[in-house]
Amino acid sequence: MRYKYCPYCGEKLTQIKAGDDGMVPYCTSCDKRWFDTFNSCVIVLTYNELDEIALSNQWYLSKNYKSLTSGFMVPGETAEECAKREVKEELGLDIETLEYAGTYWLDPPEQLMHGFIGFAKKKQLVLSEEIDDAEWIPALEAPMSMFPDSPGGPLYEVYHKYLRLRGFE
Ligand SMILES: [Zn+2]
Repeated sequence: MRYKYCPYCGEKLTQIKAGDDGMVPYCTSCDKRWFDTFNSCVIVLTYNELDEIALSNQWYLSKNYKSLTSGFMVPGETAEECAKREVKEELGLDIETLEYAGTYWLDPPEQLMHGFIGFAKKKQLVLSEEIDDAEWIPALEAPMSMFPDSPGGPLYEVYHKYLRLRGFE
């Protein structure tokens, strides 16, 4: 998001030079610079001791395709805390170990996705209200159920990092 008006006082912003960042929007009344902002979110591949992956469905997105766990970070939490919280909320699983799997810029909608690979012991999935369906799927069969994605995309990259991590490729 690019600010045009000051979120504090509502005044129309001007521009001020901010070192190497060049010109940035500036409120003369509040003496505050308003850098561009965007949402941060996580995408988490959760696998178990049988190398099955937890894939979930939200029917408003698609009845056919499943996806990894994702969600928005809230102020005050780290990306790692967000990854564990989302997996707990959506699937009822406790992540025991978490590996970072890179960042992915989505535009639109201007979101920075932090990828993770998490391990959780296999147990019955307990779904939140926003998840319509979820299941453990053998890792190598997962692409047949997942949203199609291509190199550079978060689903593709996180899945292939998992395959390399676990020695499948
Ligand atoms: Zn202001």
